[in-house]
Amino acid sequence: MVQGPPVDARRIAAQLGDRSVVLVGMMGAGKSSVGKRLAARLGLPFVDADAEIEAGAQLTIPEIFERFGETYFREGERKVIARLLGGGPQVLAAGGGAFMNKTTRDNIAAHGVSIWLKPDVEVLFARVRKKTNRPLLKTADPEGTLRRLLEERSPTYALADITIESREGPHDMVVEMALRRLDETLSAAAKPSATERRRVEVPLGSRAYSILIGPGLIDEAGAEIARLAPGAKCAIVSDANVAPLYLGRLTASLDKAGLRSAPIVCPPGEATKSYAEFARVSDALIEARIERRDVVVALGGGVVGDLAGFCAASLRRGVRFVQIPTTLLAQVDSSVGGKTGINSPHGKNLVGAFHQPSLVLADSKTLDTLSEREFRAGYAEVVKYGLIGNRNFFEFLEAKWRNVFAGGPARAQAIATSCAAKARIVVADETEQGERALLNLGHTFGHALEALTHYDSKRLVHGEGVAIGMAAAFRFSRELGLCSGQDATRVEAHLKAVGLPTRLRDIPGLDATAEDVVAAMRQDKKVDRGRLTFILARGIGESFVARDVDEGSVSAFLTREMAISI
Ligand code: NAD
Ligand code: ZN
Repeated sequence: MVQGPPVDARRIAAQLGDRSVVLVGMMGAGKSSVGKRLAARLGLPFVDADAEIEAGAQLTIPEIFERFGETYFREGERKVIARLLGGGPQVLAAGGGAFMNKTTRDNIAAHGVSIWLKPDVEVLFARVRKKTNRPLLKTADPEGTLRRLLEERSPTYALADITIESREGPHDMVVEMALRRLDETLSAAAKPSATERRRVEVPLGSRAYSILIGPGLIDEAGAEIARLAPGAKCAIVSDANVAPLYLGRLTASLDKAGLRSAPIVCPPGEATKSYAEFARVSDALIEARIERRDVVVALGGGVVGDLAGFCAASLRRGVRFVQIPTTLLAQVDSSVGGKTGINSPHGKNLVGAFHQPSLVLADSKTLDTLSEREFRAGYAEVVKYGLIGNRNFFEFLEAKWRNVFAGGPARAQAIATSCAAKARIVVADETEQGERALLNLGHTFGHALEALTHYDSKRLVHGEGVAIGMAAAFRFSRELGLCSGQDATRVEAHLKAVGLPTRLRDIPGLDATAEDVVAAMRQDKKVDRGRLTFILARGIGESFVARDVDEGSVSAFLTREMAISI
C-alpha cells in the first residue's frame, strides 16, 4: 500500500517546468502502461520512443534490427530521444537499451527526471515470454539472455534519479509510487538542503566577490545576477558541448529575473583560447551591445572561463563578468582568482590579464554530465589543496572520495574547501609574487609532461600530469630528506585509488629521457637562470616554495625514477 497524503500532480507538473519524466528499464518493465497512466495524471502527453522510431523509419524495430543491425538502430534511437527531449514536458518511455548510451543519459539528466522501473525478475520473464518479437531475445535461451542483459544493465539503470521496485501488482500502484517519488525528488531539488549549499567569500576590497556552491544553482543564476547588476544585459559565452546541456536553463533563469541575454557559443577545446576566437567573441559582445554596466557570463569549463574573462577584461577596458564553471577543474581552480587569458603560438596562457569575476556560481550538479576522466582530472586539483596546506582535508578525501565522485553534500563540501583554500592564497598574493606559487604543486613537472605528449588529451590531460607531478614532488621531497616515506607513499596510494596516474610509465607511449623532461621544465615560466622553482613538501599539508632547486639534482632524481619505471 502507498502511504501518506494524496500527491498533488499539478504541483509536480509545475515543478517539472520544461523537463520531461523519462521512464527507463528493461523490456517488459511496464514503461508504456505506467507511462500512459502517469502522463494522464500529470496532464502531459505520453510519447513512446520506440513507436516514434518505428513511425519515422516506417519499419518495425525487429525489421530495423534485421535490415540494418543494432548499431544503426542505437544511433537512430539517440537522435530521436534528443529530439523528443527538446520538445518540452512529456512522459517519455525510452527503449530498454537507450539509457546505456552516455550521450542519451547526459541529455536525459539535463532535460528530464529519470525513473528506473525495476520489476521483479520473475515478473519480467512472465511478461516477456508472452511477446516473441523482441529482437535481442531471439536466442535459444531467452530467459538466460534476459537475465544476462539485466545483470549487465542494472548498474547503469541505477544511475536514474529515481528507482521504483515493483513486484507484480496493478500499474496504478506503480504510478502512485512514481508520483510520490517525483514529488519528493523535485521538492528536494527546489530546496537544496543547507548542508549542500555553501558560500565562500573572496575579500579583495573593492573587487570582493562570493562563490556560491551547490546543486541547482544554474536555475538561480538570474536572481543572483539581478541582485548584482539589476537590469543588466548578459552575454553568455559557452561551448558547443555545454550549451545544449545548460544554456536553456540559464537563459530561462535570466528571463525570469528580467535580464535580457545573448548567447555566444564557441567550439569546445583548448584551441578556442586563441587570438581568432578572442576577436570573434569580442566582436560578438560589441554586436550584442554589451556596455560598461552589462555582464559577460562564462558558462563552461576553464577554456570558456579564461577566454570569456579575458574578453570581459578588455572589452571597453573592463566589464563585469560572472563565472558559471561546469567542470570540476573550473569550479575549484580556474574560475577563482581572476587569471584570464588565451594561448599564443609560443605557448600557453602567454596573453592575458588579471580580472576578478563579480560572482562565481558553481552548480555541483552540472558535474554529473562531465566524463569520468575529466572529473578525475579535476579531482587532482582538489587533492592538491590538501597537500599544500590542509592535512585534515586530505584525510577527508581519503575517507570520502567515493561520495565526492558520486555527488551530494561531500562533493559540495570538497569544492567549497578547495575554493576557500584558493581564495585564501589569492587574497594573500593576488598577482603571484610569492605564496600563490604554492598552487603550482605538481605543475612544473606536469606542464613538462603535457608538452612532451604534445598536449594530446588522448594521452594526458592537465590534471593527470598534475597527479604524476604531485606524486613525484613528494617522492623527490622524500629523497631530499624533507618528507617521510610514509607520507609520500600515502599521496601516491590515494591518487592511484581514484584511478589517477602517478608515474611516468603510466603515460601511454612516452618516449623521453630525464634530460628531455628537464629541458621541457626549463621552457616553463617557473625557471629562473638555471635554478628551478619547485614546490616541495615537508609532509602532507606542508608544502613550500623552493626557489633554488638545482637542475642537476632534479635530473638525477628523474634518471632514477625512469630507470625503475621501465
Ligand atoms: P575545458 O573547458 O576544455 O572542459 C573540458 C571538456 O569538458 C570540454 O570538452 C567541455 O566542452 C566539456 N564540458 C565542460 N563542462 C561540461 C559538463 N558539465 N558536462 C559535459 N561536458 C562538459 O577544460 P577545463 O579542464 O575545464 O579547463 C582547462 C583550461 O583551464 C585550460 O585552458 C587551463 O589553462 C585553464 N586553467 C585556468 C586557470 C586560471 O586560473 N585561470 C587555472 C587552471 C586552469
Ligand atoms: Zn592545474
